Amino acid sequence: MLKVFIGAIVFFILVGCSSQKSMQIPSTMFQSVNESQAVLIQDGKEKRYCHMCGMDLVKYYKTSHSAEENGKNYQYCSLHCLEEHFEQGIILKNPKVVDVTSLKFVDASKAFYVVGSKKRGTMSKSSKYAFLNKNDAKAFQAEFDGEIMDFNGALDKAKEDFKYNN
Ligand SMILES: [Zn+2]
Repeated sequence: MLKVFIGAIVFFILVGCSSQKSMQIPSTMFQSVNESQAVLIQDGKEKRYCHMCGMDLVKYYKTSHSAEENGKNYQYCSLHCLEEHFEQGIILKNPKVVDVTSLKFVDASKAFYVVGSKKRGTMSKSSKYAFLNKNDAKAFQAEFDGEIMDFNGALDKAKEDFKYNN
């Protein structure tokens, strides 16, 4: 009888811990979303992972980017990894970024990037979050600081990550 009782306690502790853990995952990182909210555009079984570094695209969704090469779609965890692919001399077309407000992919050249805010970045010390609506970018900046830039400005900042490595 005592064994059953102890077993029950251990069971509740384990179940309690694991369910609490899974509840915490989406809220611990600003970049993360629920799987149902993420748009995954690559094909095949690697579709959930960044083409360059292999990180989970649902976990790093709010900094996710995409681009095309010869009709093939690539998805990245960050502008950093998109830039790294660019630097391999590949001609990437149609860069897109996740709009933090709607969680939909938008044309990166139309987005307003908040660069270097207090929110942590992905693969980079200087974070880059993109918004389709300039007022959304301004509201984010008012709360978390940073500088508002267009895609080319943010890409120049991403290039700095590689200069430090050399
Ligand atoms: Zn990556």
